[in-house]
Amino acid sequence: MRRANAVQVFLQNYNNDYGYDLVVADESATVQDYLDALNQAIEEYSFTRGRNKILSCRGCDLCCAERAPLTAIDLYNINDYLKVCDESLQKTLDRIGYIMVNGPAVDITLRRGEDERCIFLGRKNGLCTIYSARPLVCQTFICCPSSTKAARLREIIVNYGEDELVRQWLWQAVELGYPPGFHEGFRPKINLKDWKPNGFSAKRNYREVKIKEISPPNLWKQLYKQG
Ligand code: SF4
Ligand code: SF4
Repeated sequence: MRRANAVQVFLQNYNNDYGYDLVVADESATVQDYLDALNQAIEEYSFTRGRNKILSCRGCDLCCAERAPLTAIDLYNINDYLKVCDESLQKTLDRIGYIMVNGPAVDITLRRGEDERCIFLGRKNGLCTIYSARPLVCQTFICCPSSTKAARLREIIVNYGEDELVRQWLWQAVELGYPPGFHEGFRPKINLKDWKPNGFSAKRNYREVKIKEISPPNLWKQLYKQG
């Protein structure tokens, strides 16, 4: 159920382009509260879409051809939606993800087809075929202006979520005793010890991830406005 007002998203005028700012009004606000508030704002407000100069994403699929980093929770949500169970993380990532390794760095993104567009994009109608389970990065990207703190919060959530996915992928390979399989690599030098548990660890859905726990103190100070 949606917790009203834990995160509040406001329409903002940025030199006659309409974007958004946000505040967190509840110390226990979660990433799901953030997603709910942003999804509601997308329905209610006419943000200026900078890429195609229309007021809605409907009928546009430009960002479905771009890098879309995944979180561990995204994979749970997609597998639940597709009713896939008992599959190793490696198998899931081979099916719907793309793992790129560069030295010690790892990037795990949504798999794209030969036409460079996401495998979940309906090719005939340009609509997302897993809309209600689409990844966090898809739910939170709007090609409109936003405040620095809103952009920073999104960046932190996406980065921590992806880091935890990388940690789980490497951990599972160690536990099951196979080398982690990636799809593209350049001088790979990956090590589980480089990925420490964070606010996403052991969490199965976004309602369990607290914004305060993953925000650096200076960002939290800007975000939190007592109601
Ligand atoms: S956010 Fe993506 S889908 Fe929506 S208008 Fe912008 S480019 Fe198109
Ligand atoms: S999951 Fe859906 S919204 Fe996200 S990139 Fe793929 S088609 Fe687009």
